[in-house]
Amino acid sequence: MLQDTRKKVLKANQLLPKHELVKFTWGNVSERDLDTGYIVIKPSGVNYEDLTEENMVVLDLQGNVIEGKLNPSSDTKTHLEVYKAFPEVKGICHVHSTYATSFAQAGKSIDAFGTTHADYFYGSVPCARVLEQQEIEADYEMYTGKLIVDVFKDKNILAIPGILLKGHGVFTFGKDANQAVHNAVVIEEVAKMNYLTLTLNPKAQPIPQYLLDKHYNRKHGKNAYYGQKK
Ligand SMILES: [Zn+2]
Repeated sequence: MLQDTRKKVLKANQLLPKHELVKFTWGNVSERDLDTGYIVIKPSGVNYEDLTEENMVVLDLQGNVIEGKLNPSSDTKTHLEVYKAFPEVKGICHVHSTYATSFAQAGKSIDAFGTTHADYFYGSVPCARVLEQQEIEADYEMYTGKLIVDVFKDKNILAIPGILLKGHGVFTFGKDANQAVHNAVVIEEVAKMNYLTLTLNPKAQPIPQYLLDKHYNRKHGKNAYYGQKK
């Protein structure tokens, strides 16, 4: 079942090593199947070169395995909390890419210092707090998901489709798995640019709101004109 979605999730996971977003098996991508509402996710601890359409895991939103012999990604509950809270999220990617995770470890948000950022994120990529000990002991992955949901509860999650988790890594979101991975590549690149910018000029400031507005809206706004007519 869900052969098309399995194929998309397989390809999206295989993009992680290709874009150098992961070492070993440190990352995972999932997608929501539009017909069934089920989630297709990478199996836990399987190398990217050993992934196949068949060994992807299909789950419902409660985490029941609908199809699959392998255990789903250990981060599955985090993905499910986000899917449950935000129906508009159709793809999720999680990585520990070097520069973005360095911002997460420093407890710093990634601010919009340039138009590369503004083309994808309508403002700073936030950095969420570390979980409390009791949250980690009770259900680490579920509370990680609830924390992400809390940060975006009054926001448009697809306008700032990424978050840093302090001391951990990055989650990105999209209209499908591929777009979530795309956003993870962009976050890593803008984090690298921010690091270099702040190294060259520790007093550098984010771009003004009107420049952020222009770049974000020409690509994503009501009257977007970036790219070719569809
Ligand atoms: Zn992680």
